[in-house]
Amino acid sequence: MHEILIRGAEVVVTMDATRRELAGADVLIRGGQIAAVGAGLATDGTVISAHGCVVTPGLVNTHHHLYQTLTRAVPGGQDALLFGWLKTLYPIWARMGPEEMRVSAQVGLAELALSGCTLSSDHLYLYPNGARLEDTIHAAAELGLRFHPTRGAMSIGESAGGLPPDSLVEREADILNDCIRVIDAFHDPREGSMCRVGVAPCSPFSVSRGLMKDAADLARDKGVMLHTHLAENDEDIAYSLAQFGCRPGQYAEDLGWTGADVWHAHCVRLDAAEIDLFARTKTGVAHCPCSNCRLGSGIAPVRAMRDAGVRVALGVDGSASNDAGSLIAEARMAMLLQRVQNGADAMSAREALEIATLGGAQVLGRPDCGSLEPGKRADLAIWDVSGLEAAGAWDPVAALLLAGPPRVKHLFVEGRQIVADGQIATLDMPRLIATQNRLARALMG
Ligand SMILES: [Zn+2]
Repeated sequence: MHEILIRGAEVVVTMDATRRELAGADVLIRGGQIAAVGAGLATDGTVISAHGCVVTPGLVNTHHHLYQTLTRAVPGGQDALLFGWLKTLYPIWARMGPEEMRVSAQVGLAELALSGCTLSSDHLYLYPNGARLEDTIHAAAELGLRFHPTRGAMSIGESAGGLPPDSLVEREADILNDCIRVIDAFHDPREGSMCRVGVAPCSPFSVSRGLMKDAADLARDKGVMLHTHLAENDEDIAYSLAQFGCRPGQYAEDLGWTGADVWHAHCVRLDAAEIDLFARTKTGVAHCPCSNCRLGSGIAPVRAMRDAGVRVALGVDGSASNDAGSLIAEARMAMLLQRVQNGADAMSAREALEIATLGGAQVLGRPDCGSLEPGKRADLAIWDVSGLEAAGAWDPVAALLLAGPPRVKHLFVEGRQIVADGQIATLDMPRLIATQNRLARALMG
Protein backbone atom coordinates (compact mmCIF):
# COMPACT_ATOMS: atom_id res chain seq x y z
CA MET A 1 0.00 0.00 0.00
CA HIS A 2 1.30 3.47 -0.86
CA GLU A 3 2.96 5.41 1.96
CA ILE A 4 3.37 9.13 2.50
CA LEU A 5 5.67 10.46 5.20
CA ILE A 6 5.01 13.94 6.57
CA ARG A 7 8.48 14.64 7.90
CA GLY A 8 9.96 17.01 10.44
CA ALA A 9 7.00 19.06 11.64
CA GLU A 10 7.67 21.87 14.09
CA VAL A 11 4.84 20.39 16.15
CA VAL A 12 2.34 17.57 15.57
CA VAL A 13 -0.89 18.23 17.49
CA THR A 14 -2.32 14.74 17.98
CA MET A 15 -5.62 15.40 19.85
CA ASP A 16 -5.16 11.91 21.30
CA ALA A 17 -6.46 10.93 24.76
CA THR A 18 -3.76 12.93 26.53
CA ARG A 19 -3.65 15.72 23.90
CA ARG A 20 0.03 15.13 23.18
CA GLU A 21 1.92 17.68 21.10
CA LEU A 22 5.10 16.24 19.57
CA ALA A 23 7.94 18.57 18.60
CA GLY A 24 10.04 17.63 15.57
CA ALA A 25 7.76 14.70 14.76
CA ASP A 26 6.63 12.85 11.63
CA VAL A 27 3.33 11.34 10.52
CA LEU A 28 3.31 8.20 8.38
CA ILE A 29 0.26 7.62 6.18
CA ARG A 30 -0.43 4.20 4.70
CA GLY A 31 -3.35 4.02 2.27
CA GLY A 32 -6.21 5.95 3.87
CA GLN A 33 -5.02 5.56 7.44
CA ILE A 34 -2.41 6.92 9.80
CA ALA A 35 0.21 4.21 10.34
CA ALA A 36 2.47 5.96 12.86
CA VAL A 37 3.15 9.27 14.61
CA GLY A 38 6.56 10.00 16.14
CA ALA A 39 10.14 11.03 15.51
CA GLY A 40 12.51 9.42 13.01
CA LEU A 41 9.96 7.51 10.90
CA ALA A 42 11.03 6.20 7.48
CA THR A 43 9.39 5.13 4.21
CA ASP A 44 10.13 3.99 0.67
CA GLY A 45 7.13 6.02 -0.47
CA THR A 46 6.57 9.75 -0.90
CA VAL A 47 8.16 12.21 1.55
CA ILE A 48 6.67 15.65 2.18
CA SER A 49 8.59 18.13 4.29
CA ALA A 50 6.71 19.71 7.19
CA HIS A 51 9.66 21.87 8.14
CA GLY A 52 8.38 25.11 9.70
CA CYS A 53 4.85 23.69 9.90
CA VAL A 54 2.31 22.68 12.53
CA VAL A 55 0.37 19.49 11.71
CA THR A 56 -3.15 19.14 13.13
CA PRO A 57 -6.05 16.77 12.55
CA GLY A 58 -8.27 18.05 9.73
CA LEU A 59 -10.92 20.49 10.92
CA VAL A 60 -14.56 19.34 10.92
CA ASN A 61 -17.40 21.59 9.78
CA THR A 62 -20.75 20.55 11.24
CA HIS A 63 -23.11 23.16 9.75
CA HIS A 64 -23.24 24.79 6.33
CA HIS A 65 -25.56 25.66 3.47
CA LEU A 66 -23.15 25.41 0.57
CA TYR A 67 -25.61 26.76 -2.01
CA GLN A 68 -25.47 30.14 -0.25
CA THR A 69 -21.98 30.85 -1.64
CA LEU A 70 -23.98 32.21 -4.60
CA THR A 71 -25.67 34.81 -2.38
CA ARG A 72 -22.88 36.36 -0.36
CA ALA A 73 -23.28 39.99 0.67
CA VAL A 74 -26.71 40.43 -0.93
CA PRO A 75 -27.59 44.11 -0.25
CA GLY A 76 -31.12 43.55 1.13
CA GLY A 77 -29.90 40.92 3.56
CA GLN A 78 -26.75 42.57 4.83
CA ASP A 79 -28.25 44.22 7.90
CA ALA A 80 -31.38 42.16 8.66
CA LEU A 81 -32.25 39.86 11.56
CA LEU A 82 -32.84 36.17 10.84
CA PHE A 83 -36.48 36.20 9.75
CA GLY A 84 -36.14 39.35 7.60
CA TRP A 85 -32.88 38.03 6.15
CA LEU A 86 -34.62 34.78 5.15
CA LYS A 87 -37.51 36.62 3.52
CA THR A 88 -35.08 38.67 1.39
CA LEU A 89 -33.19 35.59 0.21
CA TYR A 90 -35.92 32.96 -0.33
CA PRO A 91 -37.06 34.40 -3.71
CA ILE A 92 -33.46 34.45 -4.98
CA TRP A 93 -32.79 30.88 -3.85
CA ALA A 94 -36.01 29.82 -5.61
CA ARG A 95 -34.32 30.62 -8.96
CA MET A 96 -31.49 28.10 -8.43
CA GLY A 97 -31.25 24.66 -10.01
CA PRO A 98 -28.89 21.65 -10.29
CA GLU A 99 -25.93 23.55 -11.79
CA GLU A 100 -26.12 26.23 -9.07
CA MET A 101 -26.15 23.53 -6.37
CA ARG A 102 -23.14 21.70 -7.82
CA VAL A 103 -20.96 24.74 -8.55
CA SER A 104 -21.75 26.57 -5.29
CA ALA A 105 -20.96 23.38 -3.35
CA GLN A 106 -17.55 23.12 -5.02
CA VAL A 107 -16.80 26.75 -4.19
CA GLY A 108 -17.84 26.35 -0.55
CA LEU A 109 -15.98 23.08 -0.09
CA ALA A 110 -12.82 24.43 -1.76
CA GLU A 111 -12.93 27.40 0.58
CA LEU A 112 -13.28 25.04 3.55
CA ALA A 113 -10.39 22.88 2.34
CA LEU A 114 -8.09 25.90 2.17
CA SER A 115 -9.04 26.68 5.77
CA GLY A 116 -8.00 23.23 7.00
CA CYS A 117 -11.32 21.38 6.77
CA THR A 118 -11.25 17.70 5.79
CA LEU A 119 -14.82 16.70 6.75
CA SER A 120 -17.87 18.84 6.19
CA SER A 121 -21.56 18.36 6.61
CA ASP A 122 -24.06 20.35 4.57
CA HIS A 123 -27.69 21.21 5.18
CA LEU A 124 -29.55 21.50 1.87
CA TYR A 125 -33.21 22.21 2.58
CA LEU A 126 -34.51 23.57 -0.75
CA TYR A 127 -34.71 21.75 -4.07
CA PRO A 128 -35.97 24.20 -6.71
CA ASN A 129 -36.04 23.50 -10.45
CA GLY A 130 -34.91 19.88 -10.29
CA ALA A 131 -32.04 20.32 -7.81
CA ARG A 132 -31.16 17.16 -5.86
CA LEU A 133 -28.94 16.26 -2.93
CA GLU A 134 -26.56 14.39 -5.22
CA ASP A 135 -25.64 17.64 -7.00
CA THR A 136 -23.62 18.42 -3.86
CA ILE A 137 -22.48 14.82 -3.27
CA HIS A 138 -20.86 14.72 -6.72
CA ALA A 139 -19.22 18.10 -6.06
CA ALA A 140 -17.63 16.83 -2.83
CA ALA A 141 -16.47 13.60 -4.47
CA GLU A 142 -14.79 15.53 -7.29
CA LEU A 143 -12.94 17.71 -4.80
CA GLY A 144 -12.13 14.78 -2.47
CA LEU A 145 -13.49 16.06 0.85
CA ARG A 146 -15.17 13.73 3.33
CA PHE A 147 -18.84 14.71 3.19
CA HIS A 148 -21.91 14.39 5.41
CA PRO A 149 -24.75 15.89 3.35
CA THR A 150 -28.12 16.14 5.06
CA ARG A 151 -31.43 15.93 3.22
CA GLY A 152 -33.12 19.07 4.51
CA ALA A 153 -36.70 20.12 3.88
CA MET A 154 -39.35 22.81 4.27
CA SER A 155 -43.04 21.93 4.24
CA ILE A 156 -44.94 24.86 5.79
CA GLY A 157 -45.20 27.72 3.31
CA GLU A 158 -46.49 31.25 3.75
CA SER A 159 -50.11 30.32 3.03
CA ALA A 160 -50.02 27.86 5.95
CA GLY A 161 -48.45 30.32 8.41
CA GLY A 162 -44.81 29.39 7.77
CA LEU A 163 -41.94 31.63 6.74
CA PRO A 164 -40.84 30.38 3.26
CA PRO A 165 -42.79 31.10 0.06
CA ASP A 166 -45.06 28.27 -1.08
CA SER A 167 -42.87 27.72 -4.16
CA LEU A 168 -39.98 26.48 -1.98
CA VAL A 169 -41.86 23.96 0.16
CA GLU A 170 -42.42 20.29 -0.63
CA ARG A 171 -45.12 17.75 0.22
CA GLU A 172 -44.16 15.82 3.36
CA ALA A 173 -44.63 12.41 1.72
CA ASP A 174 -42.28 13.47 -1.10
CA ILE A 175 -39.69 14.67 1.42
CA LEU A 176 -39.66 11.37 3.32
CA ASN A 177 -39.51 9.34 0.10
CA ASP A 178 -36.56 11.36 -1.14
CA CYS A 179 -34.80 10.92 2.22
CA ILE A 180 -35.12 7.15 1.78
CA ARG A 181 -33.90 7.40 -1.82
CA VAL A 182 -30.72 9.35 -1.01
CA ILE A 183 -29.89 7.28 2.09
CA ASP A 184 -30.22 4.04 0.11
CA ALA A 185 -28.17 5.44 -2.78
CA PHE A 186 -25.38 7.34 -1.03
CA HIS A 187 -25.11 6.61 2.72
CA ASP A 188 -22.03 4.58 3.62
CA PRO A 189 -21.95 3.61 7.32
CA ARG A 190 -18.56 1.86 7.18
CA GLU A 191 -15.39 3.01 8.90
CA GLY A 192 -13.51 5.38 6.63
CA SER A 193 -16.74 6.35 4.86
CA MET A 194 -16.42 9.32 2.50
CA CYS A 195 -20.19 10.00 2.45
CA ARG A 196 -22.80 9.73 5.17
CA VAL A 197 -26.29 11.10 4.64
CA GLY A 198 -28.39 12.66 7.42
CA VAL A 199 -32.05 13.68 7.72
CA ALA A 200 -32.58 17.38 8.41
CA PRO A 201 -35.92 19.23 8.30
CA CYS A 202 -34.89 22.89 8.10
CA SER A 203 -36.21 24.21 11.39
CA PRO A 204 -39.23 24.01 13.70
CA PHE A 205 -40.64 27.13 11.99
CA SER A 206 -40.62 25.68 8.45
CA VAL A 207 -41.88 22.10 8.89
CA SER A 208 -44.74 20.48 10.81
CA ARG A 209 -44.58 18.64 14.11
CA GLY A 210 -45.57 15.50 12.16
CA LEU A 211 -42.62 15.78 9.80
CA MET A 212 -40.19 16.32 12.68
CA LYS A 213 -41.48 13.12 14.29
CA ASP A 214 -41.54 11.11 11.06
CA ALA A 215 -38.02 12.28 10.21
CA ALA A 216 -36.73 11.09 13.58
CA ASP A 217 -38.42 7.70 13.13
CA LEU A 218 -37.02 7.36 9.61
CA ALA A 219 -33.47 8.31 10.66
CA ARG A 220 -33.49 5.73 13.48
CA ASP A 221 -34.93 3.08 11.18
CA LYS A 222 -32.09 3.75 8.69
CA GLY A 223 -29.36 4.27 11.29
CA VAL A 224 -28.51 7.81 10.10
CA MET A 225 -28.15 11.07 12.00
CA LEU A 226 -30.62 13.94 12.54
CA HIS A 227 -29.87 17.64 12.18
CA THR A 228 -31.79 20.92 12.27
CA HIS A 229 -31.61 24.57 13.42
CA LEU A 230 -32.62 25.20 17.03
CA ALA A 231 -32.92 28.15 19.42
CA GLU A 232 -31.07 30.45 17.04
CA ASN A 233 -32.26 33.81 18.40
CA ASP A 234 -35.01 35.54 20.40
CA GLU A 235 -37.44 35.46 17.45
CA ASP A 236 -36.97 31.70 17.30
CA ILE A 237 -37.76 31.28 21.02
CA ALA A 238 -40.82 33.55 20.73
CA TYR A 239 -42.09 31.52 17.75
CA SER A 240 -41.68 28.29 19.70
CA LEU A 241 -43.53 29.62 22.75
CA ALA A 242 -46.36 31.05 20.60
CA GLN A 243 -46.79 28.12 18.19
CA PHE A 244 -45.89 25.11 20.32
CA GLY A 245 -46.41 26.42 23.86
CA CYS A 246 -42.93 25.39 24.93
CA ARG A 247 -39.26 26.22 24.52
CA PRO A 248 -37.23 24.62 21.68
CA GLY A 249 -35.52 22.11 23.98
CA GLN A 250 -38.87 20.75 25.16
CA TYR A 251 -40.13 20.64 21.57
CA ALA A 252 -37.06 18.70 20.48
CA GLU A 253 -37.31 16.25 23.36
CA ASP A 254 -41.04 15.62 22.80
CA LEU A 255 -40.43 14.75 19.13
CA GLY A 256 -37.45 12.44 19.65
CA TRP A 257 -34.91 15.05 18.61
CA THR A 258 -32.38 14.45 21.40
CA GLY A 259 -29.66 11.81 21.58
CA ALA A 260 -26.15 11.01 20.41
CA ASP A 261 -27.45 10.68 16.85
CA VAL A 262 -28.78 14.29 16.82
CA TRP A 263 -27.00 17.59 16.43
CA HIS A 264 -28.58 21.04 16.41
CA ALA A 265 -27.17 24.18 14.79
CA HIS A 266 -26.75 27.41 16.78
CA CYS A 267 -28.42 26.82 20.20
CA VAL A 268 -27.63 30.46 21.03
CA ARG A 269 -30.61 30.76 23.37
CA LEU A 270 -30.50 27.44 25.23
CA ASP A 271 -31.33 27.97 28.91
CA ALA A 272 -29.85 26.05 31.86
CA ALA A 273 -32.50 23.30 31.73
CA GLU A 274 -31.93 22.83 27.98
CA ILE A 275 -28.15 22.68 28.47
CA ASP A 276 -28.73 19.98 31.08
CA LEU A 277 -31.05 18.11 28.69
CA PHE A 278 -28.43 18.20 25.91
CA ALA A 279 -25.69 17.00 28.29
CA ARG A 280 -27.80 14.12 29.65
CA THR A 281 -28.89 12.95 26.22
CA LYS A 282 -25.49 13.48 24.50
CA THR A 283 -27.16 15.74 21.94
CA GLY A 284 -24.63 17.64 19.83
CA VAL A 285 -24.39 21.35 19.05
CA ALA A 286 -22.97 23.03 15.93
CA HIS A 287 -21.75 26.39 17.19
CA CYS A 288 -21.63 29.00 14.40
CA PRO A 289 -20.10 32.14 15.95
CA CYS A 290 -19.57 34.27 12.81
CA SER A 291 -23.13 33.74 11.62
CA ASN A 292 -24.45 34.50 15.11
CA CYS A 293 -22.49 37.78 15.05
CA ARG A 294 -23.51 38.63 11.49
CA LEU A 295 -27.24 38.15 12.22
CA GLY A 296 -26.99 39.68 15.69
CA SER A 297 -28.36 36.49 17.20
CA GLY A 298 -26.21 36.59 20.34
CA ILE A 299 -23.39 34.60 21.91
CA ALA A 300 -24.05 30.89 22.39
CA PRO A 301 -23.33 29.67 25.94
CA VAL A 302 -20.46 27.46 24.80
CA ARG A 303 -18.53 27.74 28.06
CA ALA A 304 -21.58 26.65 30.05
CA MET A 305 -22.34 23.89 27.56
CA ARG A 306 -18.80 22.51 27.65
CA ASP A 307 -18.67 22.69 31.44
CA ALA A 308 -21.95 20.76 31.62
CA GLY A 309 -20.59 18.09 29.27
CA VAL A 310 -22.47 19.04 26.09
CA ARG A 311 -20.73 17.93 22.90
CA VAL A 312 -19.94 21.12 20.97
CA ALA A 313 -18.59 21.38 17.43
CA LEU A 314 -18.12 24.23 14.96
CA GLY A 315 -19.96 25.27 11.83
CA VAL A 316 -19.32 28.12 9.42
CA ASP A 317 -23.07 28.20 8.60
CA GLY A 318 -24.24 29.28 5.16
CA SER A 319 -22.30 31.82 3.14
CA ALA A 320 -25.23 34.23 3.08
CA SER A 321 -24.88 34.81 6.81
CA ASN A 322 -21.15 34.59 7.46
CA ASP A 323 -20.32 35.37 4.56
CA ALA A 324 -16.93 33.68 4.59
CA GLY A 325 -16.43 29.94 4.83
CA SER A 326 -13.14 29.68 6.70
CA LEU A 327 -13.29 27.09 9.46
CA ILE A 328 -10.04 28.15 11.12
CA ALA A 329 -11.44 31.70 11.25
CA GLU A 330 -14.55 30.24 12.89
CA ALA A 331 -12.41 28.59 15.56
CA ARG A 332 -10.71 31.93 16.27
CA MET A 333 -14.10 33.64 16.52
CA ALA A 334 -15.42 30.93 18.87
CA MET A 335 -12.45 31.55 21.15
CA LEU A 336 -12.84 35.34 21.04
CA LEU A 337 -16.62 35.37 21.62
CA GLN A 338 -16.42 33.25 24.78
CA ARG A 339 -13.87 35.76 26.07
CA VAL A 340 -16.23 38.65 25.33
CA GLN A 341 -18.89 36.89 27.37
CA ASN A 342 -16.88 35.28 30.15
CA GLY A 343 -13.39 36.79 30.36
CA ALA A 344 -9.96 36.17 28.89
CA ASP A 345 -9.57 32.73 30.49
CA ALA A 346 -12.91 31.46 29.15
CA MET A 347 -11.50 29.60 26.16
CA SER A 348 -7.91 28.86 25.18
CA ALA A 349 -6.66 28.56 21.61
CA ARG A 350 -6.09 24.85 22.24
CA GLU A 351 -9.65 24.28 23.44
CA ALA A 352 -11.00 26.05 20.34
CA LEU A 353 -8.75 23.88 18.16
CA GLU A 354 -10.03 20.78 19.96
CA ILE A 355 -13.65 21.78 19.35
CA ALA A 356 -12.80 22.39 15.67
CA THR A 357 -11.23 18.94 15.19
CA LEU A 358 -12.02 16.20 17.71
CA GLY A 359 -15.22 17.94 18.82
CA GLY A 360 -16.57 17.94 15.27
CA ALA A 361 -15.70 14.31 14.67
CA GLN A 362 -17.47 13.31 17.91
CA VAL A 363 -20.61 15.28 17.10
CA LEU A 364 -20.78 13.72 13.61
CA GLY A 365 -20.35 10.20 15.02
CA ARG A 366 -16.87 9.68 13.53
CA PRO A 367 -14.59 7.95 16.07
CA ASP A 368 -12.36 7.12 13.07
CA CYS A 369 -11.59 10.83 12.53
CA GLY A 370 -10.57 13.87 14.60
CA SER A 371 -7.17 12.85 15.97
CA LEU A 372 -3.74 11.85 14.66
CA GLU A 373 -3.21 8.33 15.99
CA PRO A 374 -2.34 5.00 14.35
CA GLY A 375 -5.48 3.45 12.87
CA LYS A 376 -7.36 6.73 12.43
CA ARG A 377 -8.21 8.03 8.98
CA ALA A 378 -5.45 10.07 7.39
CA ASP A 379 -7.20 13.45 7.48
CA LEU A 380 -4.70 16.16 8.36
CA ALA A 381 -3.93 19.81 7.90
CA ILE A 382 -0.39 21.15 7.57
CA TRP A 383 -0.03 24.83 8.48
CA ASP A 384 3.04 26.86 7.52
CA VAL A 385 4.06 28.90 10.57
CA SER A 386 7.32 30.15 9.05
CA GLY A 387 5.73 33.15 7.31
CA LEU A 388 4.86 36.72 8.22
CA GLU A 389 1.70 36.11 10.27
CA ALA A 390 3.40 33.90 12.85
CA ALA A 391 6.82 35.57 12.75
CA GLY A 392 7.89 36.13 16.35
CA ALA A 393 5.37 33.68 17.81
CA TRP A 394 6.54 31.87 20.94
CA ASP A 395 3.90 29.15 20.71
CA PRO A 396 3.20 28.07 17.11
CA VAL A 397 0.11 26.01 18.05
CA ALA A 398 -1.65 28.85 19.88
CA ALA A 399 -0.52 31.20 17.09
CA LEU A 400 -2.72 29.30 14.63
CA LEU A 401 -5.67 31.01 16.29
CA LEU A 402 -4.19 33.95 18.18
CA ALA A 403 -2.13 35.16 15.21
CA GLY A 404 -4.38 33.63 12.56
CA PRO A 405 -6.27 32.73 10.69
CA PRO A 406 -3.77 31.18 8.27
CA ARG A 407 -4.45 29.13 5.13
CA VAL A 408 -3.28 25.54 4.99
CA LYS A 409 -0.15 24.65 3.08
CA HIS A 410 -1.09 21.00 2.52
CA LEU A 411 -4.28 19.09 3.25
CA PHE A 412 -4.82 15.34 3.18
CA VAL A 413 -8.14 13.49 3.23
CA GLU A 414 -8.15 9.70 3.44
CA GLY A 415 -4.45 9.85 2.60
CA ARG A 416 -5.04 11.81 -0.62
CA GLN A 417 -3.58 15.28 -1.09
CA ILE A 418 -6.37 17.82 -1.66
CA VAL A 419 -4.34 21.00 -1.11
CA ALA A 420 -0.71 21.23 -2.23
CA ASP A 421 1.38 24.33 -1.51
CA GLY A 422 -1.74 26.37 -0.75
CA GLN A 423 -3.56 25.42 -3.98
CA ILE A 424 -6.51 23.08 -4.47
CA ALA A 425 -4.95 20.13 -6.26
CA THR A 426 -8.13 18.56 -7.61
CA LEU A 427 -10.01 21.46 -9.29
CA ASP A 428 -9.42 24.11 -11.97
CA MET A 429 -9.92 27.04 -9.59
CA PRO A 430 -9.97 30.03 -12.02
CA ARG A 431 -12.58 28.23 -14.11
CA LEU A 432 -14.68 27.39 -11.03
CA ILE A 433 -14.63 31.01 -9.82
CA ALA A 434 -15.62 32.28 -13.29
CA THR A 435 -18.55 29.83 -13.45
CA GLN A 436 -19.68 30.78 -9.93
CA ASN A 437 -19.61 34.50 -10.77
CA ARG A 438 -21.57 33.89 -14.00
CA LEU A 439 -24.26 32.00 -12.04
CA ALA A 440 -24.40 34.69 -9.34
CA ARG A 441 -24.85 37.43 -11.96
CA ALA A 442 -27.69 35.46 -13.56
CA LEU A 443 -29.41 35.20 -10.16
CA MET A 444 -29.22 38.99 -9.78
CA GLY A 445 -31.58 39.08 -12.80
ZN1 LIG B 1 -27.91 27.33 9.10
